[in-house]
Amino acid sequence: MKPIRQNVKFDKKLLDKNAVKVVSTIHKAGYEVYLVGGCVRDLLLGLNPKDFDVATNAKPEQVHKLFKRSRLIGRRFRLVHVMFSQRNFIEVATFRSGKVQTAKSGVIVRDNCYGSIEDDVIRRDFSINALYYDVFKHQVIDYVGGLNDISSKEIHMIGDPVLRFEQDPVRMIRAIRFQSKLGAKLSNEIHVSILNQAHLLSHVSPARLYEECVKLFHNEYAFKVFEHLEKYGLLKCLFKQTQKNDFIKKALLNTSTRIKQNKPVTPAFLFAVFLWQAQNEQFSMIKKQQKSFYLAMSQASEEVIIAQIQQVSLPKWLTARIKDIWMMQSKLEKNHPKKVKELLDNPRFRMAYDFLLLRSKSTNPELIEVAKFWTKVQN
Ligand code: ATP
Ligand code: MG
Repeated sequence: MKPIRQNVKFDKKLLDKNAVKVVSTIHKAGYEVYLVGGCVRDLLLGLNPKDFDVATNAKPEQVHKLFKRSRLIGRRFRLVHVMFSQRNFIEVATFRSGKVQTAKSGVIVRDNCYGSIEDDVIRRDFSINALYYDVFKHQVIDYVGGLNDISSKEIHMIGDPVLRFEQDPVRMIRAIRFQSKLGAKLSNEIHVSILNQAHLLSHVSPARLYEECVKLFHNEYAFKVFEHLEKYGLLKCLFKQTQKNDFIKKALLNTSTRIKQNKPVTPAFLFAVFLWQAQNEQFSMIKKQQKSFYLAMSQASEEVIIAQIQQVSLPKWLTARIKDIWMMQSKLEKNHPKKVKELLDNPRFRMAYDFLLLRSKSTNPELIEVAKFWTKVQN
């Protein structure tokens, strides 16, 4: 396989200093080493990369020896994290071959055979994600037409989408995410196989899907992602209790705006929005037999969350926050004069208020006045 080598000199300011340090150290030790994946894609698109990944022919143990502050991680495949602070690290992966051990279902169970850069290219998902950047020669190395696909904004699978989605169904939601992020077109093969294979997503472990869901919706194009997921029948494999409504749309657009403005976002908020309708329906049913408002609310919340975590697992702290947001809605709606101060002092007030405000602007216009009250009283 002969790659295209394109000279591209990225402005030094755009490259992560720590990533460059890691690459330099590995290079000096005599190994082949590149920046790879999403960071190269994003730099070519003029976007700010979220993280910088490094690929090398050095084995994990050899990389580990080069950096005092590094650790070996991973079970399915071994990686090295070179630590710069507790939260800040650069991930270094050794070139791996596409040879994978699969279970009967086609799902990958082991993926740890080291290989050359040519092998490493083929195990990646899409051509746009399989570009390597040589920091020293200022060259992008492209074996699979990724450069071309970036300029024409097309998403092509490396290999046969039917097989590659079977091996790892998460690639389907990654395709949707990159499609929305780049404003790109899915190749016809990808389009057809997602339509046919969307149901495979139900077999992915809920724990893995939590991370992926956060990535799906915490960005500037969250609503587009939502619409595409729905169109392809993927949404119901993640959130079977969720149906599009104006509240969800407004909340997703609001999340994107907050991200553009560098304001904090929490997954608790969006999950609370996605499940609110289901919670309400469940509550109405339970309330027929249960006199206590509080108990009916708790039970409904619990049941909706239990159904959700069968698809996408949610950490405990997050479900606690979701329940708080829901429980505070009726208190805010009542705005009892004696309770105003107590509610304003509640650490979850801000989230619950934002939730109420979005409801008032979408599915619950009757709440406009009460939302105005809370806007005024907190200033
Ligand atoms: P971003 O960081 O913006 O979410 P990314 O492409 O960098 O996008 P990562 O999850 O950081 O995504 O993965 C890094 C690279 O690893 C990808 O660019 C791709 O080459 C490869 N990769 C990630 N997940 C898969 C997968 N499920 N199947 C095949 N290759 C993958
Ligand atoms: Mg990345």
